[in-house]
Amino acid sequence: MDKLQLTTSGSASPSAEMANRILAASLDRIIEAAPDAADAAMKKAVPDLYTPELASQFAENFINALRRAHAPQPLTAAQRGIEWMLRWGCTPWCINDHTDSASPEWHSAGPVKTDVRTADLDSSGYSEDGGMLPWLSAEVIVTNEKPQAYGRETQVFLGYGVHLAELSPARARVALEAMRGFVADLEAVVDRADEIAKDDFEGDPEIAQAHKEAEARRIKRITEAAA
Ligand SMILES: [Zn+2]
Repeated sequence: MDKLQLTTSGSASPSAEMANRILAASLDRIIEAAPDAADAAMKKAVPDLYTPELASQFAENFINALRRAHAPQPLTAAQRGIEWMLRWGCTPWCINDHTDSASPEWHSAGPVKTDVRTADLDSSGYSEDGGMLPWLSAEVIVTNEKPQAYGRETQVFLGYGVHLAELSPARARVALEAMRGFVADLEAVVDRADEIAKDDFEGDPEIAQAHKEAEARRIKRITEAAA
């Protein structure tokens, strides 16, 4: 997957910091201009690879990276302070707002997800209800309600479409290793598909139409004979 690296904070120089602030303030206008800019840039830089679809995909990747980089960051429990942490039994890195009734009772950190949603890939129709969910997501979850009685448990919640795996760190690592192996295999499949797809071609619409009509006549004959 394409990823654009953007510096948004940390050890940025004062001028980089200012550029970032301007960028954040004008994000909507920059996003609006991105498709035309990507189109022009691609035509100029890689004319032999240029297609309008590829340029618009390029712009979309760029826009997603911009949005991600400038999305408001939720406060961590450590930033909310020690009183908050004691009150909610919160771990320092927890980003849940426990005063919100919709917020889970567990503590969570480091949520990551793909920009690609289930509906972008799925053609089975099985995930209709979860089509807008990320294709893949993961976060660290700590459950420590009444810890003297029930202790504390750390898990990795791994989401894939409508499915959710609640895994111990050890089992999450098994999943990670399986995914690592699969990524290499998938790359080989996609490389091969690229190669094989070079011989793909479009059919002749006239012949296709004639075929469809012949099929319709054939089915009609069978239906009439059966009646
Ligand atoms: Zn918490």
